[in-house]
Amino acid sequence: MKKFIAVSVLAALPVFAQAQSNRLNPTADYALINGRVHTMDADSRVVSAVGIEGDKIVYVGEADGLKNVIGIGTEVIDLEGRMVLPGFVDGHIHAAAGGLIMLGVDLQTDDKDELFARIRQEVETSTDDVILGYGVRFNPWTDGNPTAAMLDEIESDRPVYFWTIDGHSAWVNSRALELAGIDKDTPETVPGFSFFERDADGNPTGWIVEIPAQMQVLTSLIDVTPDFMAEGVGQWLQRFAAAGITTVHDHGIQGMSQLEGFQMMADFEAKGELPVRFVGSYYWNDGNIDPLPGTIELREQFNSDLVQAQYLKINMDGGDDKWNALYVDPYNDKPDLVPDPIIPFDIVRDAVIRADAAGINVTCHCFGDLAVRTLLDAIETAIEVNPPRERAHKITHGTLIHPDDYARFAELGVIYDSSGAWMSLDPLLQTVSTSRLGVDRVQAMFPVNPIAEAGGVFSFGSDWPVSGYVSEYRPLMAIETGAMRQLRGRRDVAPLGGEAARLPLQLALEAHTINAAIGMGLQSSIGSLEVGKKADIVVLEQDLFQVEPGQISDVEVAYTIMNGQLTYEKPE
Ligand SMILES: [Zn+2]
Repeated sequence: MKKFIAVSVLAALPVFAQAQSNRLNPTADYALINGRVHTMDADSRVVSAVGIEGDKIVYVGEADGLKNVIGIGTEVIDLEGRMVLPGFVDGHIHAAAGGLIMLGVDLQTDDKDELFARIRQEVETSTDDVILGYGVRFNPWTDGNPTAAMLDEIESDRPVYFWTIDGHSAWVNSRALELAGIDKDTPETVPGFSFFERDADGNPTGWIVEIPAQMQVLTSLIDVTPDFMAEGVGQWLQRFAAAGITTVHDHGIQGMSQLEGFQMMADFEAKGELPVRFVGSYYWNDGNIDPLPGTIELREQFNSDLVQAQYLKINMDGGDDKWNALYVDPYNDKPDLVPDPIIPFDIVRDAVIRADAAGINVTCHCFGDLAVRTLLDAIETAIEVNPPRERAHKITHGTLIHPDDYARFAELGVIYDSSGAWMSLDPLLQTVSTSRLGVDRVQAMFPVNPIAEAGGVFSFGSDWPVSGYVSEYRPLMAIETGAMRQLRGRRDVAPLGGEAARLPLQLALEAHTINAAIGMGLQSSIGSLEVGKKADIVVLEQDLFQVEPGQISDVEVAYTIMNGQLTYEKPE
């Protein structure tokens, strides 16, 4: 593949292509020509050329206008019709958690035989002192959670610790419980919220619910030092860049303190090893703590070019699988159950109003429609009582939103963020969610189109590495699943919500670029290709508008540029 065009082709331009090389100079100024440049600006312009100088975009238009901005030393890249987009922005991720969770064997499968085969193979081949794994799904276990005894048959000498697909439970063997000192007499870590599942005699079964109890066991098996975390996180950051991601909105650091997590990212930046902008948040899930002082402290401490603590992340409810998501109407399978919010409503409302008054935007985990409504109400009150300002409050997940609330996103200027890769009738929705909520509410999940049609801003946030079924960070897979509302490999299952629920491609692309930037309050500097904005760009091998929607995720990333620097180039 020839990337540098002959000088004759550019005779009109005062360009001196650098010495012919097949690899790009990672720190040069660039002129991208002959592309299909989808700007994602307010006019949805499509042009053919982009000029980059330093960390900024200096030109967007047709190639003949480039001569005014290109200087000696600019690398001219002939895109030969490839697609150019603003770098992908992930509106909800746990970038600093993946270094802890995504280690060991990948256990994402629906087939129990396959699951145990993978575990056996890991135990036979791994020489590690602790057997780790991730991605255990819920849907094969509708008749009861797996137990330590099942693992003890395979490995009883070394501790085994497996994360579930959502990261909020773990499955361990007896040796792990023993090393952590967990037995019949161990008190619950956070009663009612984070605990060890027990048998009739009170003995822990090997199934652990929620992060505090999970960490109680994990930290007694491995030394979760910042160095340990940084090694795993560093590898994942490179994968983000390879997927075209240039900015992430981190929604909570796990496995280390928030301070340590931000410091790890700041260290990556100082070493020149941070290929994404990292906009983080103060994570709040305990109503007994006032989140404002911690949020303000983090914001003051981390405010560099690439690492910024900005948001207050609130955890209002859980998920439908554990019956701790909050719904307007009762659960079908437990109609009398009224779950408590993770943080009481009045405390959430008070925090939202005070954060808003202090100029701090919130982003809230609202899984069910009652959680969504409660947060919208809180923001509505904040707007009423506080002076006007540029707000960018966000509701994330919103797996179910009451139709009465669809238009409120536009009215209140609240961004709706959710995970594209979750937007299909996957086996989890078919089984667990359908028994909890019934078919109609499942089919109404992820109401992106009606909210966008009412003028609301929708963004994609992967929630990686967390998931109910597929743990996925690649934006092209989110865009494909959102556009299809069907799972890759399962086109026999009807689209979730029907054909009308399929996201138009333009909307899906905006959701991973400009809209996600709006959902971080960063639309003046990133999210679209406009002169003066940061040079965050992804080049795809094909124009997605010329690809079947069901094949979008097959398209390869050719280059990723963040802050004017090449962070990924497709291997030859
Ligand atoms: Zn999350």
